[in-house]
Amino acid sequence: MRNTALKLAAVLLGVVLAGPTLAAVRCQNTGSYERWLETFKKDAAAQGIPARVIAEATPHMTFDPAIVRRDSAQSVFNQTFLQFSDRMVGGGRIPNGQAKIKQHAALFAKIEAQYGVPAPVLVAFWGLESDFGANFGNYKVLSAIATLAYDCRRPDFFRTQLFDALRIIERGDQPADVIGDWAGEFGGLQFTASDYLKNAVDFDGDGRRDLTHSIPDTMASGANFLVSLGWQRGQPWLQEVRVPQNLPWDQADLTIKHPRSQWVAWGVKAAHGSLPSDELPASMILPMGRHGPAFLAYPNFQAFLGWNSAYVYSTTVAYFATRIAGAPNVDHAGATLVQPLSTPQVMELQRLLIKAGHEGVGEVDGKVGSGTRGAVKKAQMKVGLPADSYPSAELIERLRGGGSSGAIR
Ligand code: CA
Repeated sequence: MRNTALKLAAVLLGVVLAGPTLAAVRCQNTGSYERWLETFKKDAAAQGIPARVIAEATPHMTFDPAIVRRDSAQSVFNQTFLQFSDRMVGGGRIPNGQAKIKQHAALFAKIEAQYGVPAPVLVAFWGLESDFGANFGNYKVLSAIATLAYDCRRPDFFRTQLFDALRIIERGDQPADVIGDWAGEFGGLQFTASDYLKNAVDFDGDGRRDLTHSIPDTMASGANFLVSLGWQRGQPWLQEVRVPQNLPWDQADLTIKHPRSQWVAWGVKAAHGSLPSDELPASMILPMGRHGPAFLAYPNFQAFLGWNSAYVYSTTVAYFATRIAGAPNVDHAGATLVQPLSTPQVMELQRLLIKAGHEGVGEVDGKVGSGTRGAVKKAQMKVGLPADSYPSAELIERLRGGGSSGAIR
């Protein structure tokens, strides 16, 4: 799930990610893979994983250099919300999602009764994670996870994943040759092995938690995972709104919540349907800044972020779910005023933000994450631009010209 945004853009849609590859200094492995695997197998046995499971898994825990290359290629993902969501939600996915709900209506009713998660939300994840079960990935999961557990970049994370993958085999949920993506995520919802072990449920009653063949197991497991991430029954997750030009822009921030009544008092209106003036807490999100689409994100939106912390991806899944549930196309008019920054521009902005003393940017990587957005907001407030947290060429200009405070030009 962590790689979904990149994977979907690259695999499902045939898009070549043309962003620059960052020439990071890479760690180097020393010991041999074979010796490492022998030690891992001893540790697995010591942790109580039966010898028959280790024997069954061994032929599949092969080293794959293609996985390491894939993991090292840190392509920068810099599509705007509308570029990404138009692609993800287009191509017939909305009618396909609605057809899936009709086809499995009894199942979704049963899941909603038990977990409180409505069908459009589950189908949105299913559609974006695996194209409704049509695309599980092209790698052997055990090989991918073992390779990354041996590799020096993130060994601890993947070592845990590998133990958990063996436990999934021990439990009889999946065979040792299960297929998934290059980072070892698999099934209709592309769970990591650890998320699978913790959250997968057997909903068709055959005794196996099978998230590759069983749609009931897959959908109920997604609901179970969302509940573990804080999903609350009967509440909305995302709503498109129209905002006035005099909105206090600095309040548009995922970390800031106000009751809906406050947003209404500030002149926010529903884009369609109604916006009750009540106490339900909501954050304003402007994925393309103050000119672009505007949404109120409700407490349930946190479950989308828990599933995948990438902001554009989470907003896209949540938006896709509203579309499947009947919402019209998001407003595209204002976005024509938005000029997205290129990766080199984002990197320049990050350098300027760091130079100006704004914290939270992290490394200069050309990616606009929550740290960079937070620093953008502080810089906008300081130079007197509307503080909508969206990086712009105008802000770069101001920061270039600003220099250190007190400088006289
Ligand atoms: Ca089952």
